[in-house]
Amino acid sequence: MKKIAIIGFGGAGYNAAREVRQRDAEAVIDVYSDTDTGPYNPMLTTYYVKGAIPYEALFPFGNLETIQKELNLNVYTNRPVTALAPGERKVLFDGGEAVYDEILISTGASAVMPPIPGLDLPGVFKMRTAEDAMELKRRLDGGEIRSGLVIGASWVGIKIVEDLVERNIPCTLVDGAEWMFYVAAFQETALRAQRDLEAKGVKVACGQMLDHIERAADGRLTAVMQGGGRFTADTVAVCIGVKMNTGFLRDSGIAMNRGVLVDRHMRTNYAGVYAAGDCCEAVDIQSGAHRNIGVWFNANKQGAVAGANMAGGREAFDANVLVNLARYLDYDFISIGDVSACGPEDEVYEYEDARYYIRAVRGGKDIRCINMIGSADSNGVVKNAFIKAIENPEAELDIQTICFLRKRGFPDGFINFLGGRSLD
Ligand SMILES: Cc1cc2nc3c(=O)[nH]c(=O)nc-3n(C[C@H](O)[C@H](O)[C@H](O)COP(=O)(O)OP(=O)(O)OC[C@H]3O[C@@H](n4cnc5c(N)ncnc54)[C@H](O)[C@@H]3O)c2cc1C
Repeated sequence: MKKIAIIGFGGAGYNAAREVRQRDAEAVIDVYSDTDTGPYNPMLTTYYVKGAIPYEALFPFGNLETIQKELNLNVYTNRPVTALAPGERKVLFDGGEAVYDEILISTGASAVMPPIPGLDLPGVFKMRTAEDAMELKRRLDGGEIRSGLVIGASWVGIKIVEDLVERNIPCTLVDGAEWMFYVAAFQETALRAQRDLEAKGVKVACGQMLDHIERAADGRLTAVMQGGGRFTADTVAVCIGVKMNTGFLRDSGIAMNRGVLVDRHMRTNYAGVYAAGDCCEAVDIQSGAHRNIGVWFNANKQGAVAGANMAGGREAFDANVLVNLARYLDYDFISIGDVSACGPEDEVYEYEDARYYIRAVRGGKDIRCINMIGSADSNGVVKNAFIKAIENPEAELDIQTICFLRKRGFPDGFINFLGGRSLD
């Protein structure tokens, strides 16, 4: 009877457990979690804050008790794993250790709170966990917040802006980078997103690096920027990035950059040790290099692939490609591919009408990055076309994709850019 261990029970951990159980009814599955909540979807936290979904909806796989029974798991709650000894196939925690045959590291990531003075003041918060969401909702529902400052024009920051704007709370968004969504957006795209936000009453200030946060006698907070700028509000959300929860692997010998390095089968450098989700760096199919792409789809898929392989399968995750998606305040923006891979010599395709803004860049035969605004119902199809173009730059788009994109009003120029051909 195989003994499987899973460290961390988010989307990646849950999907791994489910896949193991589907393939192996006999396996013992031990899950170690540092919380006592069931696996939840962190991207839904801001929807809960704004009241769009109830608390229970954060848990898409059901409650912990039901999951435990359905999948026949031993779930050890409030038991953070403190170290791993892969040579001896041992997992260590406070006051004990346990052995395993195959193990998955699926410990996710945490919001970064760097040692900047003032980040520990009351009223300064981050957004990652269900507890973070409950605390913000409590303060908003209680009327404690009459103005908000969001530091970090990121995928998380923009959702906090939405939570504030929908409650008519004046809000300022600042970022140290030159433009919004810097790691994924072309400047041309970001300026459009910024104009839209400003039209909705949000003040946006880019190129503003935080120095420290001060608290006045009346409890209001002022973020003082390195260039001397000052932004005052009742509350400050710090959304400036994430760090992978891999500290406990420090002396384990597991190969890591910022995250655990895995191949397409989610295997690490140690036999029997797998990693999946936000804590890992899988092979980016665009560059061929390891890259952390911390999105819900990847966490679930990578977890399922790892689970299948721990149960003796030979599955691969072949869709590790940079995708950043933001949907907020009736606006949507997606970036597919690596904006930083685009150079001044590359060919640029640009299109704008009342519905879409598209900016896409190609270097030779390789599509490097696509930014689209207004394309929410077609994002999956374009992403798949992008992945196919990476796998085979010579391949033409299939007829179904061409018809789909035409029906949605995409211009022929863009369809051709993606590898389409004339059907007339
Ligand atoms: C506000 C917000 C908005 C987001 N928006 C989007 C979006 O629009 N689209 C999208 O695709 N993705 C989005 N994401 C990202 C997405 O939610 C994550 O990529 C995904 O949930 C990662 O799942 P995971 O299982 O890898 O990690 P997690 O969900 O972080 O789960 C890891 C678990 O491991 C536990 N753990 C950590 N260390 C240990 C230890 N030593 N021992 C035991 N347990 C441990 C953690 O407490 C946690 O429960 C968003 C995230 C946030 C926070």
